[in-house]
Parts: sequence; C-alpha cells; structure tokens
Amino acid sequence: MKVRDIIEKACHENILTKDEIKLLLMAEGEDKNLLFKTADMVRKEHVGDEVFLRGLIEFSSYCKNDCFYCGLRKSNSQAQRYRMQEDEIVEVVKSAYQMGYRTVVLQSGEDMFYTKDRMCSIIKKIKQNVDVAITLSIGERSYDEYKAFKDAGADRFLMRFETSNEKLYRQYHPGMSFEKRIECLKWIKSLGYELGTGFLIGLPGQTIDDLAQDILLVKELDADMIGIGPFIPHPQTPLKDAKEGSVDLTLKSIAILRLLIPDANIPATTALGTLDPLGRQKGLMCGANIVMPNVNDLKYKLKYELYPGKICINEDATKCRGCIESIIVSLGRKVGQGKGQSRHYKRAAAS
Ligand code: SAH
Ligand code: SF4
Repeated sequence: MKVRDIIEKACHENILTKDEIKLLLMAEGEDKNLLFKTADMVRKEHVGDEVFLRGLIEFSSYCKNDCFYCGLRKSNSQAQRYRMQEDEIVEVVKSAYQMGYRTVVLQSGEDMFYTKDRMCSIIKKIKQNVDVAITLSIGERSYDEYKAFKDAGADRFLMRFETSNEKLYRQYHPGMSFEKRIECLKWIKSLGYELGTGFLIGLPGQTIDDLAQDILLVKELDADMIGIGPFIPHPQTPLKDAKEGSVDLTLKSIAILRLLIPDANIPATTALGTLDPLGRQKGLMCGANIVMPNVNDLKYKLKYELYPGKICINEDATKCRGCIESIIVSLGRKVGQGKGQSRHYKRAAAS
C-alpha cells in the first residue's frame, strides 16, 4: 500500500494496522509532507484554529518512583525537592486565571504526602475560588482516590503509559507494572474524567514496531487528550548516556494520532520545544492544538527537572504568556477562549 492510500484510509476509517502505521512513521520527502499537511487539515476541520493554553503548576518534586529516564526519580539524591502548600497553589491558580488561563494542570511526582484528603481539599479550594478546569497529573492512585478527586471537582487526568512494550516498561520502571498502569487508565476513563495518555519517543531499545503499538494503544484507550514527547537524557539518571528521542518521529506520531482520533486535544509538548527551538511550532502545524506553559514561580520551576534544558525556565509566567501568544498568532492561529474541553470527550458524553 502506498503512503498516500494509507493516509486516505486513516482519514476515512480512523483506524490503521500496525504495518500501515509503521509505513507512516518511516515516511520521508513528499510522503511525509503529505502526512503533516493532512494532519493539519484534519486538525482545522475537527478542532479549529484555536490553540488552548493550559497553565502548568508543578506542585511537588518529590517522587516515590524510580523511572530510569526521569530527573525526579527517588534515587536522584541531587534532585532539589519542594512541596507547595495548599494556599500557595490556590494563589498561583488565581494569578494564572488573571493571565487568561481557564485550565490548570496540577502536576507532581508520585508524592503520597498529598493524601486523598489533602488533594481533595486543594481541588475544592481551587473550584470554590476560581472558575477553571482542573487537570491532575499525579500518577498512580487507588480507584477510591481517583473517585474522590473527581467528586471533589477534578475534570481531567493525564498519565502516559510511557511505552506499550511490557519488557521495556519493566526495565525502566522498577517496582511498577504495565498492567497496573493500564488498569489505572481504565479506572480514570470509567470515572468520567477526560483522559489524557501517551508515550515517550526514543527510549533506548524502543523500535518502530513499539511506536506503532504505542499509537494503537492510545487509540484503544480512546484518549481524549494525547501527550507525546521525545525522551531527553538526564545526567543524574541511569539513562544519562542514551541518545535523545527523535523530533521527526514525535511529529509523525502526533500527525498519525490526529488522523486516528481527529477531535482529541493534542499538545505540542515542552520536551519537543526543548530539543528543537521550533519544535512547538512544528507540532502545532502537524496536528497539535494545545500548549502547556508553566505558570509557577521561578524558584520552583528551576527545581522541577524531569529532563535538562527545559525551555522558558528563566522566564516569568506573564512573559511566557505573551511569548506563546505571539507564536500562536504568527502561525495564523488564535488563543482559545474558555476551558477548551476535548471535543472527543464532549462527543462521547453526548452520545
Ligand atoms: N509523576 C507523574 C507526572 C510527572 S512526570 C507521572 O509520571 O505521570 C510527567 C511526564 O514527564 C512523564 O509521563 C514522562 O513521560 C515525562 N518525562 C519524565 N522524564 C523525562 C525525560 N527524561 N525526557 C522526556 N520526558 C520525560
Ligand atoms: Fe516520578 Fe513521574 Fe518522574 Fe516517574 S516520570 S520518576 S513517576 S515524576
């Protein structure tokens, strides 16, 4: 099958075989251009020209896990750790609201200091004070906790499965299990959250076959939001000498997923912008429709180091807001107004 025909099939049927996805991941030249152009058209048709901004608040850098790629892993004794207080978090949300953000993403390592009650209290306090959608990105919890967070007012949840290759998953996530990860994602979906998931591109040992399987798993989980980013080696981790992930494969994965889930929300990730100065622009031009600028205070931003070299790390949040807006406008797009709920979620909820 020719690449042209595969793209056409993806547009009409929203499903592809693994081999077809592999051919798209390997597309070059004219074929690749066609993939990107088509994804951009599909994005425009299904989610429009609005680019929604999400204010990212990284509220704790403590983590009980030891993911091989991540600078926050518990074995990194050089990592700088901090925890934000409830009131401090609410204040940041208020200032994000004033800058125009209508969604905040509360992200952290897996930090059990934030018990069910503490998390619920933070969520409720935000909801009482500010009219924003809340996305959680805090890792694995029990069904009971996910339910309590939802009942307290959380709207969305982001958790990547990182890789669908179970052997690689085991290798890079000591003490964790792929099965458990998937179980959590299914719970989150069943509780009525907007579900965000995705994977890392370029983990050492990962193949094109694995990436095609990752794409199929995002489709199978029926994600409302899709987060895909290149792996960036962190010097204080076991993967410090590994090669970084490919920007090109990241862009192709974004484009393919735009064809397979046309009305999902897909961010142009910070990691993409870190490896390529124009990475986020490129992402926005091949299917992405979301950007997630950090709105935290500089003193925390610097300490939350998943990977090195993060962009905008020395900019304050107001500056970031302006800079992002000019990027969006330069691409002929506009900043989204309102909470920017995933249309994929809305459509499923209505049917
Ligand atoms: N602890 C939570 C949220 C914080 S980590 C969780 O794991 O879900 C958020 C994401 O950062 C992870 O899903 C992972 O894909 C990404 N990440 C971590 N280390 C990275 C690295 N070295 N390069 C690129 N992305 C990384
Ligand atoms: Fe912790 Fe998330 Fe980093 Fe894993 S990726 S070590 S869970 S912060």
